[in-house]
Amino acid sequence: MARENPADPSEQVGTVRTADAALTGEAVGAAAAAFAGWARVPVAERVARVTEAIVETSTANGERGPLLSRELGKVIGDVQGELGFALALARYDGPVAERLCADRVLHDDEGTLITTADPYGVIAAITPWNAPVILAALKVVPGLMTGNTMVVKGSPLAPLAVTDFLSQVARRLPDGVLNVVNGGADVGQALVGDPRVAKVSFTGGLATARHIAATAAEHVRPTVMELGGNDAAIFLPDADLDVATLQRAVFGSFLTSGQVCMAIKRLLVPAARRDEFVEAYLEAARRVLRVGDPLDPRSTMGPVISREHQQRLTGLVQSARDAGATVHELGVYEPSSDDGYWVRPTLVLGLDDRHPLVADEQFGPTVPLLTYDSVDEAVARANGVDQALASSVWSADEQRAVAVARRLDAGFTFINCHNRAGTSLRASFGGRRHSGHGREFGEAGVAEYVQSHSINSPAAIRENRALGNAYPVPAAAG
Ligand code: NAD
Repeated sequence: MARENPADPSEQVGTVRTADAALTGEAVGAAAAAFAGWARVPVAERVARVTEAIVETSTANGERGPLLSRELGKVIGDVQGELGFALALARYDGPVAERLCADRVLHDDEGTLITTADPYGVIAAITPWNAPVILAALKVVPGLMTGNTMVVKGSPLAPLAVTDFLSQVARRLPDGVLNVVNGGADVGQALVGDPRVAKVSFTGGLATARHIAATAAEHVRPTVMELGGNDAAIFLPDADLDVATLQRAVFGSFLTSGQVCMAIKRLLVPAARRDEFVEAYLEAARRVLRVGDPLDPRSTMGPVISREHQQRLTGLVQSARDAGATVHELGVYEPSSDDGYWVRPTLVLGLDDRHPLVADEQFGPTVPLLTYDSVDEAVARANGVDQALASSVWSADEQRAVAVARRLDAGFTFINCHNRAGTSLRASFGGRRHSGHGREFGEAGVAEYVQSHSINSPAAIRENRALGNAYPVPAAAG
């Protein structure tokens, strides 16, 4: 399987071996065989070994940076942060895994209750292309530390850096603990459908999630679903609209060419402040948004992932123009090739909430600006789409912003920022409704990889005070 450079599709960046059903089965078999031994390793030792493997692998990140940039079109300033993420996550998750995996033991009048947190077994991890190393690390680090073994399938659209990274980590762990396969939907289905898989952790789009959920359902297999968003950023009537603030909003939408699940996908602005907002936003974009060669450190935005995606996005903006919208082109636009998958960043005004650019996830460098007359209306429209991943509230008064945030139907709400700058290793992240279920990051992100086991020895049975044929009645009520 070959991958081209989206900034210059005539360049083939590299190839990876494409798996088939047999190779996928071998990877699951290796993970299944390794499970009992890995699960028996004391948690502190597992944490240390995973962390050490990531530390050692990360020393070669410098070479992986340009590779990730060339296969994905992500600007070079961004990729080093992406490649350093696994180590930061390992340092956060380690103590959490040790705490969660420790037995909880209760000895009291009722008897002895031991609650253990056990790994599931083989985890199938399926990830997308837009942040391939971060999104794989969010599954692999907590999954392995808690004693599971794993098979990871990345996206054919950015398979190179993540395969290299995970293979290097795998080499430093016992055989079969971490396995990587590459391929498309057929390989993904072979993986999810393998009866030896105990849980599926998926990040990607809704249509794929439906296929995976259907296959997982046949095996009554639990899933984590991290899906797309249609995030609203609500600027309250008292929000600061200076250029510095709006630079954060611009990055909130256009990081990775807008191809981020938690990007600002809709701007909600008070009607009375629309012109002021637009003027400051255009100036902010002029200052910080520079489309060009992803390997040039001055570029802040590269191309999009594929020709198909470029055409879809260009068509979406054209349909907005056809619907009478005003389209502002943003920033400095200097593509480094004629035939790369470039899309000019735009701010789109005057669309109806039912237009596809507003109602669905665009996942690209174009953002609609919608105006509202009351905060109640803004909240209703923010919540009025099928996806419920993240959102943000912008206000000069933090308490006011938090009060509005509480009314938003989302798994995450940023205050006065949005997207990567507002995330935290300790803050769990994930969606509701069509944005999925389950969490990554934070303690909840580690807890996805353990299942509880209660071992209960009732005092009444132990002391022969009860026959064992009725629900025990608390002494006070008896
Ligand atoms: P996608 O759903 O097309 O692909 C994701 C992965 O699923 C890929 O590895 C792909 O090969 C695999 N796949 C495709 N069909 C499959 C099938 N039938 N069975 C099993 N596996 C299959 O998504 P994408 O285009 O790679 O990623 C973009 C989407 O991911 C966007 O919607 C974005 O918002 C979302 N996303 C969500 C998060 C989050 O944390 N919530 C993070 C990043 C991206």
